[in-house]
Amino acid sequence: MTDIIHISPSGAVLTPDRPTIPCLPGDGTGPDIWKAAALTLDEAVRKAYQGKRAVTWLELPAGEKCFLDTGESLPEKTLEAIRTYRVAIKGPLQTPVGKGIRSVNVALRLALDLYSCVRPTRYIPGVPSPMKKPEDVDMVIFRENTEDVYVGLEWESGTPESRQIAELVKKISGRDIREGSGIGIKPISKFGTQRLVRKAIQYALLNGRESVTMVHKGNIMKFTEGAFCRWGYELAAEEFADRVVTEAELSAKHGGIIPAGKIVIKDRIADAMFQQILLRPAEYSVLAMPNLNGDYMSDALAAMVGGLGMAPGGNIGDDYAVFEATHGTAPKYAGLDKVNPGSLILSGAMMLDFMEWKEAAELVRAGLAKAVAAGDVTYDLARQMHGAREVSCSRFAERICALM
Ligand code: NAP
Repeated sequence: MTDIIHISPSGAVLTPDRPTIPCLPGDGTGPDIWKAAALTLDEAVRKAYQGKRAVTWLELPAGEKCFLDTGESLPEKTLEAIRTYRVAIKGPLQTPVGKGIRSVNVALRLALDLYSCVRPTRYIPGVPSPMKKPEDVDMVIFRENTEDVYVGLEWESGTPESRQIAELVKKISGRDIREGSGIGIKPISKFGTQRLVRKAIQYALLNGRESVTMVHKGNIMKFTEGAFCRWGYELAAEEFADRVVTEAELSAKHGGIIPAGKIVIKDRIADAMFQQILLRPAEYSVLAMPNLNGDYMSDALAAMVGGLGMAPGGNIGDDYAVFEATHGTAPKYAGLDKVNPGSLILSGAMMLDFMEWKEAAELVRAGLAKAVAAGDVTYDLARQMHGAREVSCSRFAERICALM
């Protein structure tokens, strides 16, 4: 009997009853929140399946501590284990400043081709929120993870390279780039766009979502963000013709009513979309967007439901999936058993969903919601919630286990 999770080319996932799952506790507060998350996930699986199923965690090094110990921040043996076991979970990682790779997180995403960063945002009643109706916020962002200005192709102002690029641009376009400019490159490909939009549409169809909205700045950046939008519509029409309608078709042919079994494909300009998520959040469900837009919008949405410390995330490709805490290492709280483990715990619930262990995932979410409703929360929430009791990171996890 294997202990390896199987991910098929169609995206279907087969999980054995006793999978091995690599975990990277990470740096700073990572070990604290990983301990709390492992306790919670194990308890949910135990309660859901009464011992018939269980996870064996395979702890792996990465990040700054690993660099200090071994001289490498992302050892090949860590990557190899994730390649073997396919699904992993990680805490936050610190990239050693000025040494080696640019970012351990980016390197991990590129090495495993984890091209979609999936960030669900749903309100947990009781969590402090700046919104009047935070319960209307229920969106899942699919952010492209491997392209856009994040590819790291940039040249510092005043270097021979930036001057050469400026000369080339002058030659092919006749346009001047102002002397002393730093220059970055923004590649967005049809391949990268379409595999991301495909994942977003598949997710929407599988999870009974109403719509997929492509968020772009194509009115200004026509051949990158504009092309993202166009290629997204093309993909939807070519591969999902019988399952999607555009907004134009919806009003012209269907009287504004979504036909049964179909979803709506629409698009919004990114700046307008930042207004829309604040003013009309109920009209949006699954969002697909290039890397930079996705980075900003993921945190904006998480903040709207009050949960920067509780926002889950997963980096998902065709062959591998790595679920992660979406905040950083918060080094000033390292080892104090203080910070909120909610982000990693909810990322663990996402991972259980991905593994098709939905009963256990629901138990995790229910336990966490009940702990918040009971007012037993970590310092970050306690300081904003009237009448809440501050509990430690580990105590929060224990309360979730008791209440799930
Ligand atoms: P950060 O670690 O996210 O911390 C910023 C502040 O956010 C903390 O001081 C704390 O606010 C709050 N916070 C973060 N995590 C929290 C939690 N679990 N519970 C409650 N509050 C939490 O951001 P940073 O200080 O900018 O980054 C530190 C390091 O993390 C950097 O080296 C960065 O590269 C790395 N990083 C890693 C990842 C990743 O691995 N995915 C992501 C982002 C950053 P208060 O001070 O108000 O309590």
